[in-house]
Amino acid sequence: MNEPHVMPTYARYPLTLVRAAGTRVWDDAGRSYLDFAGALGVTAIGHSHPAWVTAVRDQLDTLDMVSNLYATEPQARLAGRLAELMPVPDARVFFCNSGAEANEAAIKLARKHGLATGKPSIVALEGSFHGRTTATLAATGQPPKRAAFEPLVDWFRFVPPGDLSALEAILTADVGAVLLEPVMGEGGVRPLADDYLRGVRALCDERGVLLCADEVQSGLGRCGDWAALQHAGVEADVLTLAKALGGGLPIGAMLARAGISFVPGDHASTFGGGPVACAGALAVLDTIERDALLERARLIGEALPGAAVAAAPAGSVVEARGRGCLWGFELARPVANDVVLAMIDEGVLATPAGPDVVRMSPPLTSGDEEVAEAARAFGAAVATVLAPAEEGSA
Ligand code: PLP
Repeated sequence: MNEPHVMPTYARYPLTLVRAAGTRVWDDAGRSYLDFAGALGVTAIGHSHPAWVTAVRDQLDTLDMVSNLYATEPQARLAGRLAELMPVPDARVFFCNSGAEANEAAIKLARKHGLATGKPSIVALEGSFHGRTTATLAATGQPPKRAAFEPLVDWFRFVPPGDLSALEAILTADVGAVLLEPVMGEGGVRPLADDYLRGVRALCDERGVLLCADEVQSGLGRCGDWAALQHAGVEADVLTLAKALGGGLPIGAMLARAGISFVPGDHASTFGGGPVACAGALAVLDTIERDALLERARLIGEALPGAAVAAAPAGSVVEARGRGCLWGFELARPVANDVVLAMIDEGVLATPAGPDVVRMSPPLTSGDEEVAEAARAFGAAVATVLAPAEEGSA
């Protein structure tokens, strides 16, 4: 589609999408695709789930928008549900509109708490991704994404993921928080080991440091648990959510354990936690619970990686990493974008997560046949892109 007035912040794939339902999307030529890109991890319950559509419509008919100067029932209920489900003790919830905003709020909260306790620095991980606002970009451990905007705030220090000794060494007296994604998404789909996460929690407890978990991509069933941290049995002091939460409407949430809180005047959002987005989010949570979608995500996680690797030419996939409905397939060469393009030809949408990783984030509602179809398309696409070169070099 010709779109001369859209600012080109995304390198688009050659598709214009006009319709979506369940696990499928349709382009303007009427061709359908299996959506294993999942709107970058948003569509946990698929596109336009009837329960979500009904909840959003009903809310639009009842109370559309009133601002955060007043309490609303959907926001109070959603905060209560998230406090129940997420591994944050007796949580208080701040609502915003995106993952970056949720992390921005977490960073501000950690910074305020840290300044008050003489520990204003924050440790983040190399290879992490926390968003594109200036503070979340400063927390993102991918220097090329930061380069055009330096200098950014100098509140962050970085350590390699998975290395407890490095973390221990960097937790000097001025560090008040550790920020991490339990499953690193944009950095190539890298689940942090349960032992590492338990070790981080222990170190944070020992040093009086906040553990802030960015579950924007990994949370809400994507990795088979309400929060990926629960796989390791670990609790966070601060935890952020977005993507899947709104079911397609923009909403983000920052949870902080009781005792760590903003007060009026510290932070705000005009649209944050509006009644319609909250009603949609409640429908997402209810659907995940009612339809046992955490279990379904785990089953998909048992089937998808094996089938996808088996469908690809031998040696072309170096490693399959992930959990539940978030998988990254590391290729033998940095051709992830070419494979994603070839998958479009095969009728399946996926996304790259770095130059050599093809990522699939299917809805938790995906059926067995859809999983098999995506695996087959991945295998065929990898064969198209990689096999000729592999043969040539053999
Ligand atoms: N944090 C993580 C782990 C993410 O994967 C993303 C987006 O991909 C973000 C934060 C930023 O979220 P948003 O694009 O909603 O601002």
